[in-house]
Amino acid sequence: MVGVTVRTALVTGANRGIGEQIARGLAKHGLHVLVGSRERSSGDNIAASINDQGGSAETVALDVSDRSSIASVASTHPEIDVLVNNAGMLDEGRLLDLSEDTLAMTTAVNGLGPLFLIRAMSPGMAKRGYGRIVNVSSGWGALNNLGPGAYGVTKAYLNAITIKAASELPNSVKVNAMCPGWVRTRMGGPSASRSPEEGADTGVWLATLPDTGPTGGFFRDRQAISWMDG
Ligand code: NDP
Repeated sequence: MVGVTVRTALVTGANRGIGEQIARGLAKHGLHVLVGSRERSSGDNIAASINDQGGSAETVALDVSDRSSIASVASTHPEIDVLVNNAGMLDEGRLLDLSEDTLAMTTAVNGLGPLFLIRAMSPGMAKRGYGRIVNVSSGWGALNNLGPGAYGVTKAYLNAITIKAASELPNSVKVNAMCPGWVRTRMGGPSASRSPEEGADTGVWLATLPDTGPTGGFFRDRQAISWMDG
């Protein structure tokens, strides 16, 4: 159709949980969705289901802890308009007792991977004059409420990346962080208070903000929350 721009969104860890629901929500908004999945077959199931329901999706093999995997996606898909850094991992215990391997992996998945993706995708967004970056963080990344193990400090790092990237990018590229609440996923467990659809709502909203929308903020339930207290 002449005059209609179809935006492309990459959602990391979109093969299940909150990421899957953000991917489905963005497809309903008419975006072409790249279903980021480190295991291709589970991503293919979600992409096929989105396509069956009239949306537009394809799988992108992406392990966010692997810099060559990020570089590969950046080279095959240079025109990503919306980046949702959703993939995450939760570890347990004391930060000071974690194995070095666990510490390195949690930092890579929750912090460095999102930063490398932002660095890879945002120059194109800035050049084209449109970009939306959503960092799926957590209330456990707020400084007065840090979560267990390396999880809390890596989500605080993701929050800091959000503030810094927003300040370095033009207003046409909006960078925001969000907390989905406590959500019934593999990470959140069966007792959590929210459905994955409810957890995804703020992410879909931030990924489709109008040009007048905020940047450099932290949100839950579409409302600004505090970097200190969550
Ligand atoms: P899940 O455990 O259900 O899903 C995690 C997703 O991240 C999976 O798709 C998983 O892929 C993916 N992932 C993990 N490591 C990598 C990697 N190295 N490369 C690519 N993908 C990876 O968690 P949720 O859906 O609950 O969590 C989504 C986000 O929401 C996370 O960032 C989490 O921290 C955040 N969050 C969740 C809360 C909750 O209550 N559930 C609360 C606050 C924040 P795979 O299937 O291959 O393992």
